[in-house]
Amino acid sequence: MKKYFRRRLLLLLSLIVVLSGCSNVNEQEKNVADSPTKNMEVGQKPSTIATPLAATEAPKIDLTKVKPNEMGKIMVVMFHNFVESFTPTKYDKGEYTTTFDSFKQLLGDLYDKGYRLISMNDYLNNNINVPAGCIPMVFTFDDGSAGQFNLVKSGDALVANSKSAVGIMEEFNKTHPDFGLKGTFFVNLGGETFNGEGALPERLKYLVDKGFDIGNHTLTHVHLNEIKSADKIEEEIGGNQKKMLELVPGYKFNTFSLPFGQPTKSLQGYVVKGSYQGVDYENQVIVEVGWDPTYSPISKSFNPLSTHRVRASGIKPVDADLAWWLKNLSKADQYVSDGNPNTISVPKSKEDGIDKNKLKDKKVITY
Ligand SMILES: [Zn+2]
Repeated sequence: MKKYFRRRLLLLLSLIVVLSGCSNVNEQEKNVADSPTKNMEVGQKPSTIATPLAATEAPKIDLTKVKPNEMGKIMVVMFHNFVESFTPTKYDKGEYTTTFDSFKQLLGDLYDKGYRLISMNDYLNNNINVPAGCIPMVFTFDDGSAGQFNLVKSGDALVANSKSAVGIMEEFNKTHPDFGLKGTFFVNLGGETFNGEGALPERLKYLVDKGFDIGNHTLTHVHLNEIKSADKIEEEIGGNQKKMLELVPGYKFNTFSLPFGQPTKSLQGYVVKGSYQGVDYENQVIVEVGWDPTYSPISKSFNPLSTHRVRASGIKPVDADLAWWLKNLSKADQYVSDGNPNTISVPKSKEDGIDKNKLKDKKVITY
């Protein structure tokens, strides 16, 4: 009996070490390898999961060792298609397509490198709560394709297909609950969305219930850059919002992904705000087709209405895709968390870039 309790205690202590952070990623990897979680049954939840800490409880960190930089850049990753296998052709080289296997591999790589998922709203509201030394990352998915997510029958229930990005993330979450199960799906509700079992409201509700977010991508994936009238923009963006309210009552979009870029300057206000058939919309985040990491929400340069994204690496890697940035973006240039959402820790040289108006009751710590 005594032995049993000692083993439980050891398990608990190891889990606290593993789940409490990235402060030293290499050390953490070693702990994971030795950890009893390795032998846990799939689906068995560890007994402790890192929970948000109040300022008073936040553990003291060695700033010079962890080197937090909450002014650093954050990668908002843009995914498109997911498939089992892919043969490049002359017309589709697979730049926007990821295989399920490489996505699975990617999640493990990101985890080991210290990345942790945050939601777009936590990014917007500067509510970044990942352990000390970890790097926040946002996942986004455009177009609502079945490879991103579709439902299949499992007995009487409908579950995410294990051959879909959501299914793979759910599976990964069982063994790495601290990685985060978050992401925003930008959908066109006038077209096919997450084709599979279940009706469209069930599919959307499944994602919402799991904690994912749904964003607006226009009703019919219109060429927004070619639209010449405010009415048409309101019809496409407001129309998609109207449809969403019919499918998931009460669900208001606040994020928007530009299909084919912005319209002419005089019409851009309608992308942010407008109204269609009595339904108002207002987008607080507008994400662009990506090429580079975006600003920290505490930075003076932060502009959520022009949020840059990094495109996920497709079958054919290209410059400035995720794999490229993972290789070329140094840790010193990235947002590295101090582990306490109530403080903003930055190297002294970065202090001037902080937008003091956004601090609210957060305290700045420099080193
Ligand atoms: Zn699109």
